[in-house]
Amino acid sequence: MKQLVILGAGESGCGAAILAQKQGYEVFVSDMGEIKPIYKALLEQHHIAYEEKQHTENKILNANEVVKSPGIPATAPFIQKLTTQGTPVISEIEFASRYTDAKMICITGSNGKTTTTSLIFDILVRAGLNVGLAGNIGNSLALQVAQTRRDYYVIELSSFQLDNMYDFKADIAILMNITPDHLDRYDYKFQNYVDAKFRITRNQTAQDAFIYWSEDPVIDKELKKLHPAATLYPFGSKKEHNVAYIDADNLVLEAPNALALTMPVCDLSLRGRHNQLNSMAAGLAAQILHIKNEIIRESLMQFAGVEHRLQYVATVRGIRFINDSKATNVNSCWYALESMTTPTVLILGGKDKGNDYSEIDELVRQKCHTLVYMGLHNEKLHEHFDTTGLQIIDTNNIRDAVHRAYEAAHDGDTVLLSPCCASFDLFKSYEDRGEQFMQQVKQL
Ligand code: ADP
Repeated sequence: MKQLVILGAGESGCGAAILAQKQGYEVFVSDMGEIKPIYKALLEQHHIAYEEKQHTENKILNANEVVKSPGIPATAPFIQKLTTQGTPVISEIEFASRYTDAKMICITGSNGKTTTTSLIFDILVRAGLNVGLAGNIGNSLALQVAQTRRDYYVIELSSFQLDNMYDFKADIAILMNITPDHLDRYDYKFQNYVDAKFRITRNQTAQDAFIYWSEDPVIDKELKKLHPAATLYPFGSKKEHNVAYIDADNLVLEAPNALALTMPVCDLSLRGRHNQLNSMAAGLAAQILHIKNEIIRESLMQFAGVEHRLQYVATVRGIRFINDSKATNVNSCWYALESMTTPTVLILGGKDKGNDYSEIDELVRQKCHTLVYMGLHNEKLHEHFDTTGLQIIDTNNIRDAVHRAYEAAHDGDTVLLSPCCASFDLFKSYEDRGEQFMQQVKQL
């Protein structure tokens, strides 16, 4: 019997364990941390062997193949030992894809993944297709493959998932953009991160589609080197060379072999320039799948948005509060600031991932009158922004940050939480940070 070891007992690990067991593998799950009760219960219910707070070396090194959680870096000692001895280490998505023939629509990029993924899923559901949503969102692909039969999967892929994908092929691959992120996991070499993102085109043929933002200089440069085999579907703000673009305040989708769709930008339910790009990518994917334009139009007009992404919270004494807790890098904060239409108090800070804040300098000066730092280590923010002449407020907890931002804001202003940083210094996750922000606002 083939032995499969799964490292990490979270959503993807447990899903992979259940699928592997169903496929006749002898499965062992090992997690260096404490396994969440919900996942322990799931493993026990399926009688799957596991361990927590340790890795038993001989069991792991004897495996025929290892499925690794995307959270474990390639530099972890166990992974290095496995690699040296030649044991294949793959991602849960790679493993799950062996057991389904569904069409795969995969979305990656530094920003806009969840929004675009959710939007495509919304369109496909409205079109009545038998479709699952997977990757970083909801249930793991492996669990769904074990439990249901689908014709389509819409999958959000992080660079960490792509790192351990080899034979997987996306029928439709979407690359939203590439800006520096997670450099701590890529040896502080941007090119390594770029290479990981481009793995989304791996194994594609001319029958497959590659949808990408053509105005991204990094993508542009890579395409000149790589020449992917897939049929290309570029989108961007201008008509030239693009099959989706903005023309006189209209969004136009014209994938070859589909009827062109034109709709006013002001009809899009998602606001901001970045969301026009997300809507284009989603619309093109739908046109490639031969979904009727009326369904695409309806979804783009009615899609409710995703929590913690430029989410409206409340207006208190004329001050609007926006929760953009998911802005965990500098580029996503850029887009959030760009979409601000009132004077802004920006709350930023948290766990820095090697950020270069100069990218938002200009917008900060244009849009903000006050910056509220919120983190355990605000030194880098002080160093970068204190000389801007804006009002600077230093805090190290969410309650103070919200109250001080509220005091600094005037009637008609917006208080924007768009931190540029990961949340782990003060919060469990970006969701936790967003929830706490909204709670504090509601108590004002
Ligand atoms: P991801 O899943 O890639 O983190 P999300 O869709 O969750 O992306 O959006 C995260 C944040 O990134 C949003 O709050 C927004 O500020 C910003 N954002 C969304 N779409 C884009 C885009 N296409 N380009 C740049 N920034 C974006």
